[in-house]
This record gives sequence, C-alpha cells and structure tokens, in this order.
Amino acid sequence: MSERLVTIETARVYRYGGRRYLSRSGAYYAAAREKFWLECGCEYGDAITPPVVCDDHRKGTADAEIRKLAKELSTIDAARGPRTGGDGE
Ligand SMILES: [Zn+2]
Repeated sequence: MSERLVTIETARVYRYGGRRYLSRSGAYYAAAREKFWLECGCEYGDAITPPVVCDDHRKGTADAEIRKLAKELSTIDAARGPRTGGDGE
C-alpha cells in the first residue's frame, strides 16, 4: 500500500484580526502592515481625485518600516502577558 499524498496534522496557529497565521512573525507582520497602511497617508483616489502615495511606499522603504513596526508590536504584546488558549508562549 502506498502512502497518502495528503495527511492531517495539528499545528499551532497565531490569530490576528480574525485570521490565522502559521507563524508568530507572520501574524505580527499582518498587524503591522494594517497599522502602517492606516497611518502612512496613502489614498486610493477615485475617478476625480488622484491617488496619494506616501514617501515610504514611493521610495520602497515601506516593507522595512513594516518589519520594524512588527517587532515593536511583538515586544509590546509580550509585555501584556501570556496569550490565551496556549502554553503561555
Ligand atoms: Zn503609504
């Protein structure tokens, strides 16, 4: 008998904003990206108003800023105590 192509396993997931992430850094990156986009000043624009692109997105430095923010959010979160539903990591 050959082995199955697809198997099932239990994995830890990290929740942020109703979504599940397979890594803690992925979850914090998503949180940071959302926070960054809310505050960076970019606007989509519409049929009349042209879009506004912030300096970080124009210069391509947004990703580095988001990664920096993700680390800060992780540190802030760690000070809030253990996450619920797990082993306190
Ligand atoms: Zn922007």
